[in-house]
Amino acid sequence: MPLIPLRPLLAATQRYGFAQGAFNVNSVIQAEAVIAAHEMFRSAAILQGADLANAFMGGNADFLKGTLEDKQRGARLIGEAVKKLSQDSPIPVVLHLDHGKDFASVKAAIDGGFTSVMIDGSHLPFAENVELTREVVQYAHERGITVEGELGVLSGVEDDVFSDQSTYTNPLKAVEFCKKTGVDCLAISYGTKHGAVKGENVQLRKEIVIAVTENLKHEGIFGVLVSHGSSLVPRYIVEKINQLGGTIKGANGIPMEELKSVIKAGIGKINIDTDLRLAVTRNIREYLAGNNSAAENPALKAIAELMNQKPEQFDPRGYLVPIMDSFITGQTTDPQVLDIFKRIKQGVQEVVGTLIVEFGSVGSSAKVEAVSLEEMAQRYQRNS
Ligand SMILES: [Zn+2]
Repeated sequence: MPLIPLRPLLAATQRYGFAQGAFNVNSVIQAEAVIAAHEMFRSAAILQGADLANAFMGGNADFLKGTLEDKQRGARLIGEAVKKLSQDSPIPVVLHLDHGKDFASVKAAIDGGFTSVMIDGSHLPFAENVELTREVVQYAHERGITVEGELGVLSGVEDDVFSDQSTYTNPLKAVEFCKKTGVDCLAISYGTKHGAVKGENVQLRKEIVIAVTENLKHEGIFGVLVSHGSSLVPRYIVEKINQLGGTIKGANGIPMEELKSVIKAGIGKINIDTDLRLAVTRNIREYLAGNNSAAENPALKAIAELMNQKPEQFDPRGYLVPIMDSFITGQTTDPQVLDIFKRIKQGVQEVVGTLIVEFGSVGSSAKVEAVSLEEMAQRYQRNS
């Protein structure tokens, strides 16, 4: 079926009390794997590309310095691929922009075919964040596109989004923000953290989720809360990476029980990136370690060298540079590169499958209204 906006899926999470994982992709291969895993469980799917992931897919290996043109190219590439995959799929699929930096980046994503966007103005003073977000909401809703805003600051690192300290979201401000901007969902800061080092035994500030959700209800404002930086950082995966030559230290994720407790309280979208990177890294290390012939393949040899140079690294974009183009597009004739693709897909599916089950989204496909962008645009207009 055609791609759908995020809004009807958010409505379903609220109504039925489950959460939907939102999985970051940097390539067509990963997108295929994410969709296949959701099909297996008849779950609706949220694929997201971070702003700079779009720059990477636009062909810039130095993606932290990605330009608007890189992002436009990358958004079109992943947009077209996901649109096709969705068309052939029996489940509703959403393509969402993660951490949109400014209006131009958001527009690049929408032009590329994204059906939902995040505008991250959380680093701005409240009034400026409201202003920027409102501008994006107006542009997006006219086109039926869903908008996620952010209020409060998460610590940790995610591409070029980083902070040393977190500032928890003020529930009263969050309600005011939703009222003034008209966002469909809001990322809050309540104890999660970007990256693989989240601290031991993290406890989430569930009361913030409850306070915002209850007050939105009282005010009659639609709004679902989003949990960023929510990877679980499975110990079994990190240990295996380290056994195979990696040096990932101090890695700790959010405990599953903590996440489950906030789903019922109002978290409907849970962002997962780190866990995918870890599973893919373990699988590639395992493949390279178990295949002597890999050392004779120049591309694979170069990948192994990059992994050895930075054993602490687990972002595939860092070490897959030698096969970057085929990784992004999924096109190759090299049988060993195809083996690597297979390992990437398996890693993605292991993580995605586990979380579909844990977050209660098995079968969610049937609970989500497949609304077209045109219909959604009309609904926004009627309600404004
Ligand atoms: Zn984030």
